[in-house]
Amino acid sequence: MKLLLATGNAHKAREMREILGGLPVELKTLADLPGIPPVVEDGRTLEQNAVKKAIGPALASGLWTLSDDTGLEVDALGGRPGVYSARYAGPDCDFAANCRKLLEEMRSVPGPRRGAAFRTVVALASPEGMVQYREGRLEGRIAEAPAGTNGFGYDPVFYLPDEGRTLAELSTEEKNRLSHRSQGLQAILPLLKEVVK
Ligand code: IMP
Repeated sequence: MKLLLATGNAHKAREMREILGGLPVELKTLADLPGIPPVVEDGRTLEQNAVKKAIGPALASGLWTLSDDTGLEVDALGGRPGVYSARYAGPDCDFAANCRKLLEEMRSVPGPRRGAAFRTVVALASPEGMVQYREGRLEGRIAEAPAGTNGFGYDPVFYLPDEGRTLAELSTEEKNRLSHRSQGLQAILPLLKEVVK
């Protein structure tokens, strides 16, 4: 059976592949299926975007499809940037610009108030467009300065007090053991196993 990972983000696809490596499925990504129309991520919640990102490509490809929508929810910013995490620093901004803007906005926020969480919603759509979703969450703090070069996105500024390091200072294997994405995928695994058995 083929399973489509509905993401154009190579970093995400790599993490998803490693986490799902044990499943007896042939994993495809949007890069393998260039005809799939792009999905506009205009939902007001991670759930809405994850569902949308799974259903469109599932219907277009005829494959079981898994999507992921992730947001960084910062306590001192009332949960922002949340569902708008990708475009936090502007419409075509890159990872570095987002991290810079976040550190700037958090400049005067003292250590104890720098709590934040990554939240990932993973959606699984059938080829007919029936969809279910599950959530994963990772708590941490916004660092005072970026550290580390692994991972992607906000990883260099997301500090894990228990590890004493940022997510970008963990290896991919270490990140996959505890990440929001990994927890979301683990939560949906029982549904996936029903489908592939
Ligand atoms: P989306 O799920 O692709 O819409 O991601 C929203 C934003 O969060 C983008 O700026 C991503 O780079 C960032 N992001 C998603 N997953 C992660 C992660 O695992 N670590 C750090 N940043 C992430």
